Amino acid sequence: MRRHLPKRSREEILRRSHRRCKYCLTPTTCSSSPFAIDHIQPLTLGGTDSLENLALACFGCNGPKSAFTEGTDPETGVVVPLYHPRRDNWREHFCWNEDFTELVGLTPTGRTTIARLDLNRPGVVTLRRLILGTEEGHPPAWTLPENE
Ligand SMILES: [Zn+2]
Repeated sequence: MRRHLPKRSREEILRRSHRRCKYCLTPTTCSSSPFAIDHIQPLTLGGTDSLENLALACFGCNGPKSAFTEGTDPETGVVVPLYHPRRDNWREHFCWNEDFTELVGLTPTGRTTIARLDLNRPGVVTLRRLILGTEEGHPPAWTLPENE
């Protein structure tokens, strides 16, 4: 079911996410379509429309995220929670590979979220390569350890 989000709420979500998908970190300026608003905890699982439960997500991430809140760790086979973009510390769960084109999972949640949402899909990896070091800003400064 599609719900109408007030324009002011959408603008707040865009602002606080620095206009990037909260999962793959693609900037909105690099997408040909507007981003979705993800219910982190899906409405079908008791989630609400409160701003605390909403996250900006590109369609490439929002589709596979769907109503999932957990997934199977590809390394251990254990079911673990997916990354929660409003509660979890990104740098605890992820880092970049050596050329900043692919996310690397540092925790079961990080690995599982990368697998479940396919965060290193070919189009996103190509985009990261194309905008590396450009004004669009990849990688985002806050994802780098030296910007503690
Ligand atoms: Zn995304």
